[in-house]
Amino acid sequence: MPYDLIVIGSGPGGYVCAIRAAQLGLKVAVVEKDKTFGGTCLNVGCIPSKALLHASELYEEAGHVFDKMGIKVGKPKLDLAAMMAFKDQGVDGNVKGVAFLFKKNKVDSFEGFGRIAAPGQVEVKAADGKTQMLETKAIVIATGSDVARLKGIAIDEKRIVSSTGALTLDKVPERLLVVGAGIIGLELGSVWRRLGSDVIVVEFLDRILPGMDAEVARQFQRMLQKQGMTFKLASKVTGIATAGNRLKAQVEHASGGTAETIEADVALVAVGRVPFTQGLGLEAVGIATDERGRIVVNHNFETNVRDIFAIGDVIAGPMLAHKAEDEGVAVAEIIEGQAGHVNYDAIPNVVYTFPEIASVGKSEDELKAAGVTYNVGKFPFTANGRAKVNLTTDGFVKILADSKTDRVLGVHIVGADAGNMIAEAAIAMEFGASSEDIARTCHAHPTLTEAVKEAAMAVAKRSIHM
Ligand SMILES: Cc1cc2nc3c(=O)[nH]c(=O)nc-3n(C[C@H](O)[C@H](O)[C@H](O)COP(=O)(O)OP(=O)(O)OC[C@H]3O[C@@H](n4cnc5c(N)ncnc54)[C@H](O)[C@@H]3O)c2cc1C
Repeated sequence: MPYDLIVIGSGPGGYVCAIRAAQLGLKVAVVEKDKTFGGTCLNVGCIPSKALLHASELYEEAGHVFDKMGIKVGKPKLDLAAMMAFKDQGVDGNVKGVAFLFKKNKVDSFEGFGRIAAPGQVEVKAADGKTQMLETKAIVIATGSDVARLKGIAIDEKRIVSSTGALTLDKVPERLLVVGAGIIGLELGSVWRRLGSDVIVVEFLDRILPGMDAEVARQFQRMLQKQGMTFKLASKVTGIATAGNRLKAQVEHASGGTAETIEADVALVAVGRVPFTQGLGLEAVGIATDERGRIVVNHNFETNVRDIFAIGDVIAGPMLAHKAEDEGVAVAEIIEGQAGHVNYDAIPNVVYTFPEIASVGKSEDELKAAGVTYNVGKFPFTANGRAKVNLTTDGFVKILADSKTDRVLGVHIVGADAGNMIAEAAIAMEFGASSEDIARTCHAHPTLTEAVKEAAMAVAKRSIHM
């Protein structure tokens, strides 16, 4: 009997889509080329990077902060192999969790490379070369993304690494060159700096964290510099020579000119990710892609070929796991005949460094460009009681609200635990809240979230603790 739905790829988009479709009563199969489920996020992305960020943050705290709180532990010692084993255990638990959920929801799984042979037909090629053809009513492409490469710089995952190699280094590099000051570069740069590397970040643009609120990015860069990270902005790496003990990177101004050499033990190329559709058979079936290789879909996630849908990193939009998951749920509901929907105006974005950066909605630059007038409410963590006793006073909350309606249009947080705090802002925006709604909502004391309430009060210039 044919399937109702075959999902190609088991990342956060694919596995969530499969489970939701099964919940709705569809007969579902997932095709995954890798040995474990969970895609980039669980295997080489969100989960292992957060495990290392968490462990390295505690390592740094034990060395620098415990003493200030009267905890005498001496100088902490790093056992990198054990830290990597801890990270691997976390990955293992998560990928097994997906396998369990597939079983629980009666989702069939096929290990092998999926190719769309025709609408309604997916060929699965196993590692031993054997193929089988599966029949289905609908197909969801959730094949995700791959590391973007720089011309002329070959990634060997040992000395010149992508994020994947940076998650498995067996030695702390004395000097780490990070190419790209986006989220992944700054997160993994932070991990290795905390563990002892001298980290230099080279970025093509004249700012870090492109796309994020400019004020947030500026202040955050200062914080990272205070932690010991060095930045070379408006610069490009044009080549990396590998002869000898140390890498020698050629670095020029973004607009060209004389090159200087930066030496490093390891170089992390973190210049973004590109959609992965290799070998999927798009051309043969006639599925359209855009100029960046992303599969083109309509508001129902349907490609130009009937009953073939696409979600996650392989389509346009922020390359984030929770965006892929929400699209997975929405497309399953649409295929089943319901009204699935994703609100792209309320997708939070988090940088899991210390302090964390979290935002949802529009930045000031975006509002200015759109000609929207807005009021700003800001509150620093230096004035938050809990942050003071926690010794985490770096950062602030900024709320942007429409000057005519007071509707919240954007929330930006730099600070410890910003990633958790942004959830309240996302819910507020999802419900169309005004800044006054947040200001009049009781927030528990003493919590960092009171800074969100105070920033909302500051929109109307009535914050209490400033
Ligand atoms: C280092 C790093 C850290 C990150 N941290 C975060 C974070 O903290 N928060 C966050 O939201 N996002 C994070 N991301 C991004 C996040 O991982 C992606 O946005 C997310 O995984 C996208 O999900 P997806 O389902 O679209 O694709 P993927 O997770 O890429 O999954 C695609 C799956 O499809 C499989 N596949 C591809 N082609 C085929 C085929 N033809 N046949 C069979 N299988 C196929 C792949 O093997 C893979 O398992 C991070 C990424 C990286 C690299």
